[in-house]
Amino acid sequence: MRLFCDEMLVGLARWLRAAGDDTALAEPGTQDADILALAEAEDRLLVTRDRRLAGRAGRAVLLTEDRVEDQARDLGERTGLDWRAAPFTRCVVDNAPLRPATREERDAVPPQARGLPGPFRACPDCGRLYWPGSHVRRMSERLERLARNG
Ligand SMILES: [Zn+2]
Repeated sequence: MRLFCDEMLVGLARWLRAAGDDTALAEPGTQDADILALAEAEDRLLVTRDRRLAGRAGRAVLLTEDRVEDQARDLGERTGLDWRAAPFTRCVVDNAPLRPATREERDAVPPQARGLPGPFRACPDCGRLYWPGSHVRRMSERLERLARNG
């Protein structure tokens, strides 16, 4: 699913990216007209907390919840998005599709993570490394809970 989150939904955008959904995030201070134009041009579903903005968009989901977990549940129920689609295949920071880590990159992960079975992935844009350590495991459990609720 291709989505476009407004700047108030940074936390939710990270969850969506962790689930593998192609999720653009509005830069802070982006004008409403530009957000609408970008969402339209890139054929993305606008996800916003701004009632007026939602009303002006062709396709939009208006979220009213404050907590990320509640926002995620609400969005999942209303769009049927699959939280298990392709977990950890995108960078949670910049949305770039990850690629397999090189041998050199794998050697750069903390020693206690090196023995993990993988996959080890890297972001081609920011260089961030992803491996199935405790952070990814916690996030996976959250996504799994969401998938079961929805
Ligand atoms: Zn990145």
